[in-house]
Amino acid sequence: MMDHPFVILPEEQAPKGIEHCELCELSKQRNRLIWGEGNPRASLMMILDNPGAREDRQGNSFLCGTRETLQLGMREAGIEVNEVYVTYLLKRRPMRAYNKPDTRAACLPHLEMQIFQKQPLVLFGFGNVVVEGLFPDKESASVKELRGSWQEFQGTPISFTYHPLAVRRRPNLLRFFVEDLKALKEKWNEIQHVRKTST
Ligand code: SF4
Repeated sequence: MMDHPFVILPEEQAPKGIEHCELCELSKQRNRLIWGEGNPRASLMMILDNPGAREDRQGNSFLCGTRETLQLGMREAGIEVNEVYVTYLLKRRPMRAYNKPDTRAACLPHLEMQIFQKQPLVLFGFGNVVVEGLFPDKESASVKELRGSWQEFQGTPISFTYHPLAVRRRPNLLRFFVEDLKALKEKWNEIQHVRKTST
């Protein structure tokens, strides 16, 4: 693995007017807003619950465990790290307890706008928080229920797998994590193929 170091993906700045968003209480927790990272033109958009730290206390670039395990899974599944855009249900990292329904409701329009503007071909979410955030009315909305199947969000196909931190804590999940990422790659290839042959 050491011949393939993990990479710190370039950060995409939030659009003007949103970079200082204070629509929810997380803005008071003194964590900066991270709009997204990776390839901003990617046709595959991955959605995590919230950003991990990108800098350590001294302000040096830092690769959090979530990003490391995500990249490990992607590599195993044959997904190029620089072909993907990664964003979050909440654009700030919560440091303390917060009102979840209010915060999700406040931040979701940002994600909806990103999807609308970027028009990805496929979406992929990590962890139960993302499932609940995107499908608040779905009964039994959990990764366990939904992994291995495809739903739609804003007219775009979406599937889910475990959160990378869950995989770190329970290494027996790694196999399923990679399996789900492989299924994602297949679906993504399929859609790209259909697009090419129909244009
Ligand atoms: S988490 Fe979302 S809604 Fe809350 S302040 Fe940050 S960008 Fe705004």
